Amino acid sequence: MEELGHWINGKRVKGTSGRFSDVMNPATGEVQARLALASKAELDAAVEAAAAAQIAWGATNPQRRARVMMAMVGLINRDMDKLAEVLSREHGKTFPDAKGDIQRGLEVIEYCIGAPQLLKGEFTDSAGPGIDMYSMRQPLGVAAGITPFNFPAMIPLWKMGPALSAGNAFILKPSERDPSVPLMLAELFKEAGLPDGVLQVINGDKESVDAILDNPVIQAVGFVGSTPIAEYIYGRGCSNGKRVQCFGGAKNHMIIMPDADLDQAADALVGAGYGAAGERCMAISVAVPVGDATADALIERLIPRIEKLKVGPYTAGNDVDYGPVVTKAAKENILRLVNRGVEQGAKLVVDGRNFSLQGYENGFFVGAHLFDHVTKDMDIYKTEIFGPVLSTVRAQSYEEALGLAMDHEYGNGTAIFTRDGDTARDFASRINIGMVGINVPIPVPLAYHTFGGWKKSGFGDLNQHGPDAFRFYTRTKTVTSRWPSGIKEGSAFNFKAMD
Ligand code: NAD
Repeated sequence: MEELGHWINGKRVKGTSGRFSDVMNPATGEVQARLALASKAELDAAVEAAAAAQIAWGATNPQRRARVMMAMVGLINRDMDKLAEVLSREHGKTFPDAKGDIQRGLEVIEYCIGAPQLLKGEFTDSAGPGIDMYSMRQPLGVAAGITPFNFPAMIPLWKMGPALSAGNAFILKPSERDPSVPLMLAELFKEAGLPDGVLQVINGDKESVDAILDNPVIQAVGFVGSTPIAEYIYGRGCSNGKRVQCFGGAKNHMIIMPDADLDQAADALVGAGYGAAGERCMAISVAVPVGDATADALIERLIPRIEKLKVGPYTAGNDVDYGPVVTKAAKENILRLVNRGVEQGAKLVVDGRNFSLQGYENGFFVGAHLFDHVTKDMDIYKTEIFGPVLSTVRAQSYEEALGLAMDHEYGNGTAIFTRDGDTARDFASRINIGMVGINVPIPVPLAYHTFGGWKKSGFGDLNQHGPDAFRFYTRTKTVTSRWPSGIKEGSAFNFKAMD
């Protein structure tokens, strides 16, 4: 069986802790590799080496660092199919969806080619007599990222690109469920010209995460994953004096107004609710039709579309709509919540509980489910299910629909489907959620904007990628300079005004 270790100082190394976890093939339910889980000592040694390597990397001019990103773009494109195949095998998502995962990460690397422009400082000529003032953005030193299973290429690239091109060394602790693509990306960074030690990939579980949070050399931590872990990491990282940004779970609502194109809305809901088996932080998991007539017409359109969905392994071809969920435990949890929804009185209008795929009985496939008449007090409404389950909550007015999304504890993404510009504009302006779609079900911002949720979906004050990422991975130094013209002034003891 394949054994996966870490990427330290420019090469793959075996783990030394003696602890391992299984990497599954979710389509077959078989173990496909053993993953070494790092100890605190392994993490600390990797950080020490990274800190040493960062000194020269941070002093390398930004254009040269950008050229590494430029080369990386070419290499990812060269290896796109190879990366997507490994990604699908470990994660379970379809092959086209795996390429989308890589592509959305690649776009952030493309953006990072502009690092020299993004890192440019500010300059005030003659801030006072003979005095100039300038601010520069400098790397933090060593930064770390802790990433989830559901985008094993995109999210590590969202973190590695800005952190590295800004001149930091970076420690990535990817998800233990699908660690192969992050290791392959580290190999590609080396091929692109990144010096050894500047990027270290440490595989592990809570022990290595805690070691990151407690390591005094690490200046900043970027996390993406579930909300309870996000809160834990934010608290412990901040109390250790680090700069921390954590992105958590979601329960994304899509509001369907009576004037919406209902065929378009139904198509959008099926893609956004069931794509990637619902394992996206920007998946729509709650549909909120406004008015019973809208709800009835929407459900009537959704049922045949959902019943037609093709569920299968990534190897079954590009017409598969979604694959298995990531683990047996995830499958059991989804089915437990579906049963709870039925017990609590929601109407299960598409029941996928008996779904089984011939030849893949041990795989973690879950049939598609659609609930109607879900209410605010039900567990399926309050909890992030992270599976192919769409809940319909009927609202009687726009204000009630808006209030539902506003009152939910999560605030990652949301969408409204309407033909009325005034309603759409009011929604975008008033909603307390970080990313908003208008007739767009999954409004993931592009690389040059920023990505981040509000409320229990995001902790910290800067978003991922876009200009925020360069603010997060750098700190500002401001210099006030005067070159005396030969006539020495006496010391000034008052706080000088620039007059
Ligand atoms: P997770 O929270 O279980 O794991 C995320 C990371 O935290 C992994 O690297 C894992 O090893 C580590 N971890 C897990 N348990 C830990 C513990 N007790 N102590 C310290 N570290 C721990 O999340 P997941 O299941 O991998 O990913 C799915 C979740 O991520 C969903 O909630 C989803 O909404 C969320 N997500 C959010 C965004 C976003 O941008 N808001 C993006 C993608 C995924």
